[in-house]
Amino acid sequence: MAALTRLLKPSSISSLFTRSLSTTTTTAAVISDIESEHPNFSDPKSSRNFQWVFLGCPGVGKGTYASRLSNLLGVPHIATGDLVREELSSAGPLSHQLAEIVNQGKLVSDEIIFNLLSKRLEVGESKGESGFILDGFPRTIRQAEILDEVTEIDLVVNLKLREDVLVEKCLGRRICSQCGKGFNVASINAKAENGRPGMSMDPLLPPQHCASKLITRADDTEQVVKERLRVYYEKSQPVEDFYKSQGKLMEFDLPGGIPESWPKLLEALNLDDYEVKRSAVA
Ligand code: AMP
Repeated sequence: MAALTRLLKPSSISSLFTRSLSTTTTTAAVISDIESEHPNFSDPKSSRNFQWVFLGCPGVGKGTYASRLSNLLGVPHIATGDLVREELSSAGPLSHQLAEIVNQGKLVSDEIIFNLLSKRLEVGESKGESGFILDGFPRTIRQAEILDEVTEIDLVVNLKLREDVLVEKCLGRRICSQCGKGFNVASINAKAENGRPGMSMDPLLPPQHCASKLITRADDTEQVVKERLRVYYEKSQPVEDFYKSQGKLMEFDLPGGIPESWPKLLEALNLDDYEVKRSAVA
């Protein structure tokens, strides 16, 4: 069991990603490489922390809800988009190449993403992290297949919101350049139409000390958001079906902004009294 626990630790996942991708090119080869070395790899979740994935279109709020759940459950929230942006701002060797791809709304190569993710998992492991909530990964079937062979995902939450609201949310999104916190200046009032209910969301305004430091992501322009949505439908929506066929997908239609959605999400996840239960067994 100790050996198995070691295999399920992020460090092992990270090294498997890196090694598999550096020595092979096809998904089948990556999978058989891992399986031949670790025949018992996909095993029980009993001795480890939550391993969850958040799926959903750009702007749906994956980062917001994954980060809240990460605080509640005590597992790291790992957003591959954040890893890409850190690499972009580091002015490292990849940054020029990445800027061009990200600013056009395209996907970065699987190899680059696995390398960034492996490094992040390694750093986390050195700090004693276990479990994760992945946000923005996997985004292609190949990423999902490799992740599936490297470790077992317990639950996949698919957040959903109508497309006109997604675009408005992306255009209103702002980040504090100092503390990195996300806000939204859009005041959304989408009318009911074609059987869809209306929806309103208040802006999520920054505190005064962040207000003068707000920046907008370069890929949050209308043209790029529309391209990111197109890429999502083409490359990432099949990932929803991948997990649906495994019985791991939980669809969640966001009923509105954070005040309406957060309690409903906790309820759907059966976590509404999680803190009470946790302190009872502590
Ligand atoms: P996000 O913050 O999740 O919207 O990601 C920002 C950008 O980073 C995306 O538009 C992609 O260019 C890139 N990116 C993030 N995660 C992935 C991934 N799993 N696979 C490929 N590209 C990604």
